[in-house]
Amino acid sequence: MAVEQTLILIKPDGLVKSLTGNILSRLSEAKLIIVGSKTVRVSRELAEKHYKHLTGKPFFEELIRYIMGELHSSNRVVAFVYQGEDAIKKIRDIVGDTNPENANPVSIRGAYGRITTSGVFENVVHASSSNEDAEIEIKLWFKPEDLVEDIYPTKEITVSNKKEIVWA
Ligand code: UDP
Ligand code: MG
Repeated sequence: MAVEQTLILIKPDGLVKSLTGNILSRLSEAKLIIVGSKTVRVSRELAEKHYKHLTGKPFFEELIRYIMGELHSSNRVVAFVYQGEDAIKKIRDIVGDTNPENANPVSIRGAYGRITTSGVFENVVHASSSNEDAEIEIKLWFKPEDLVEDIYPTKEITVSNKKEIVWA
C-alpha cells in the first residue's frame, strides 16, 4: 500500500459546536501522522477554488457561504494534512458518507452532521476523496513551508518588491 496524504478541514459547524477535540480523537484511530496544520480565514476565492468541481450545482452558493462560515458567524476553518499508508480511504471511512443521514452513525458525519432546512449537508469535516484531489487541495490550502515534509516538488523563485506583513 502506498503512502498518501489527505486534506482534512474542520468546517465552521465543527468549530462552533466545539468538536475539534472529538474529531481529532476519531481521526487518530487511523494511526496516521500530521504533517501540517493551520487555522485559515476562508475567502470567497479560496472557497470557490476548493469546491470548483461543484460549480453549477443548485446548492453551490449555499455551500460557499457554509465553508466561508457565513452560516455560523465564524470565518475560519482548521486545516490538517495527514500522511500515511492508505490515508485517503482510512480517513474517509472514519469521516463517513457525504449525506449525514446516510452516514454510519458511528462515523464523524453520522454522529455530528445535519441537513439544514435549505438542504445543505452540514457535515462537520472535509476529507480528500482521491490522490488527485488531495494534491490539488493541499497545494491550495498550504504553502510548501507550512508542511514538515517535502511531499510535492517545489521550485525557488525570487520575488522583488513584494509587500509582506511582519510583527510590528
Ligand atoms: N453537499 C451538499 N449537498 C449535496 C452534495 C454535497 O450540501 O447534495 C456539500 C457537503 O457539505 C459536501 C460538500 O458539498 O461535504 C462537497 O461535496 P462532495 O460531493 O465533494 O462530498 P464530500 O467529498 O465532502 O463527501
Ligand atoms: Mg469531495
